[in-house]
Amino acid sequence: MPTFRAPRGTRDLLPDDRAVFDHLERTATSLTARYGYRGIETPLFEQAAVFERGIGEVTDVVEKELFRIAPRTEEAEAWALRPEPTAGIARAYVQHGMQTWPQPVKLTTTGPMFRYDRPQAGRYRQFWQFDVEAIGDAGPAIDAEIIELGHRFYTEVGVQGVEVLVNSIGDPACRPAYVAELVEYYRGHLAALPPTERDRLERNVLRLLDSKDPAMTGLNAAAPRITDRLCEACAAHFESVKSHLTALGVPFRVDSGLVRGLDYYTRTAFEFYVAGRAGQQQALGGGGRYDGLVALLGGKPTPGIGFGLGLDRVALVLAEQGGSTAPAVEGPLAVVVGADPEDTVSRLRVATELRAAGLRARADLARRKLGRQLEAAGKDGAHFAVILGDELGQGQVQVRDLEAGTQRVVAIADLARELARAEASHKHG
Ligand code: AMP
Repeated sequence: MPTFRAPRGTRDLLPDDRAVFDHLERTATSLTARYGYRGIETPLFEQAAVFERGIGEVTDVVEKELFRIAPRTEEAEAWALRPEPTAGIARAYVQHGMQTWPQPVKLTTTGPMFRYDRPQAGRYRQFWQFDVEAIGDAGPAIDAEIIELGHRFYTEVGVQGVEVLVNSIGDPACRPAYVAELVEYYRGHLAALPPTERDRLERNVLRLLDSKDPAMTGLNAAAPRITDRLCEACAAHFESVKSHLTALGVPFRVDSGLVRGLDYYTRTAFEFYVAGRAGQQQALGGGGRYDGLVALLGGKPTPGIGFGLGLDRVALVLAEQGGSTAPAVEGPLAVVVGADPEDTVSRLRVATELRAAGLRARADLARRKLGRQLEAAGKDGAHFAVILGDELGQGQVQVRDLEAGTQRVVAIADLARELARAEASHKHG
């Protein structure tokens, strides 16, 4: 057993994993640029109050899962690691006066999130999200545009069969009456409620609806449905989101039990799943409208909508579906080797010049015989070996094409250009 291990619930992304994440992040960047989103980075930790106020005190994320940072005596503020990016981005929107920018402000970020949750397959204490936020547009067209963007991400990275679940969870005009009705309903079935759900009943009854406890399945199926109790404005909004989604060809299903865990959501809520795979650990991503959030954080009332897609889960599903997403590891174009094992200066200098010219090159820095250096270059998958020998005094080197088995003399002054040309003709040939 090694002495130290990555903390429970975290994992190292080794180069093969990192390559998959590179692929996911590149796709996210290209996609969001096409839709007019610009990047933003906010700190990995914020004043804890940003999350407590923004996400809500009576949520799992704040009550149980917030990674609080032990306060140092000289600091007056309590901090916490971000469990999700939306609250921090909304805080930045207010702090930097983005209300005066052209609306909506369309922002995107990708990075690690932290939740002190019980680790299990697909659930980590540090996980990565690709996140998109459009702040300053009340919708409903932008709701559909964002959902379509999320769905397209899965298609472009190669996840098959992703379906969208959508719901409307109402707004301050219609939700309170619905919540009261729901409390009444569950109170009428108190004896049937598991203890955790009974505890949530008085504090955040909406959470009962997305309980995964089998004891709740029947009760939840018969519970009053928010979609039947939306006020006129919310109902019209929801209808319009659905018709826009249909027009865009996004496969979706209404799930009136979908409420999402965070307080700040209003109206549109959605999640992405591989069709047929329900369950909390299966959600590939989710999001929703948060028309109350900016005001909660001290800004002017401003509507917003966004999503967070879990990159760890996307990587897992890609592996399960057998799609190889990591590009094959590319060997160097050239390895610089030399007849004099001790002359690492020359090898390193030539390799440095090639890299300065933009080429993938490495020098063999081990003090070993030429034959061994060449062997290692072959194992590396290098296309060329640049061999430094007696000609070095005349400003020349031998270039061996390791694939073709041919070899010729090239002036050092021409080396980078020659190799670049050879690489180009190889790629296109
Ligand atoms: P949420 O805001 O909780 O719906 O999170 C959005 C997405 O992030 C989820 O659909 C998951 O794909 C991913 N996610 C959330 N929590 C975790 C976690 N603990 N580990 C891995 N992925 C997560």
